[in-house]
Formats: sequence, structure tokens, C-alpha cells
Amino acid sequence: MYIYSRKCPHCGKVFSRTFFNPRIRLGPGTRTCHRCKKQFTDGSREWASLTPEEKREFIFDGVGTLGVLAVVYFCIGLIEKTKGENELSPLMAAMVCWLGTCLLALAVTIPARWIRIKKSKQRLPCL
Ligand SMILES: [Zn+2]
Repeated sequence: MYIYSRKCPHCGKVFSRTFFNPRIRLGPGTRTCHRCKKQFTDGSREWASLTPEEKREFIFDGVGTLGVLAVVYFCIGLIEKTKGENELSPLMAAMVCWLGTCLLALAVTIPARWIRIKKSKQRLPCL
């Protein structure tokens, strides 16, 4: 799987690796390199400076990706329907898979994002 890495513009030290490249990152906007000790802008912004659309995007973009995954699960469930050897209705099984994936996605991403928003608000409180 491809990993996005972000590097210090002065010495090239990698400071962050992610599986996807989010458009909106929360942070003070600047970062100090651990190796060369120089400061640089990393493109991050604080929660208070985001527009309502950007806030929505920050919260839901990962969930949207996982939503697509949930639809794939749903389709696999429908394919399984043709086999028809499950005690549970195949359509029901697909629905359970889909709901389970959605709930798992929400359970994992929402608290993680909420913590990042909370930390951002501590650095720069909403006016
Ligand atoms: Zn550096």
C-alpha cells in the first residue's frame, strides 16, 4: 500500500507518514524539525480558522472512504446471496456487514478526530 510521507524542506527528514493524504490537517501551521532544528510551515491550520465546509470535510472525508468500503461489503454480501447456504438471510447478512463496517468506521474515526479538534481548540480557542 502506498504511504504518503512528508519531509522537512531543509534537511529532508520525514516527520509524518500516512496511508492517505488529507487536504485538511489540524496543527499550529509551523513545525520544528527534530534533526536540523529549523522551523518550517507544514500546511496545517487550527480548527478555529477553518470554514464550516472545511470542518465538515475534516470530520467526514475518512468516513466517506470507509462508506465506499461498506458498499463493497454490501455487494459481496449480495453475491453470496446466490449461494444461499446461510441460515441467516443473505440480504440480512449483507446488511449486518454494512452496518457493522459503518459503525466500526464511526467508532474509530470520530473519537480520533474529536481528540485532534479538542487539541487544536486548546492551542487556539474559538472566538
Ligand atoms: Zn530538518
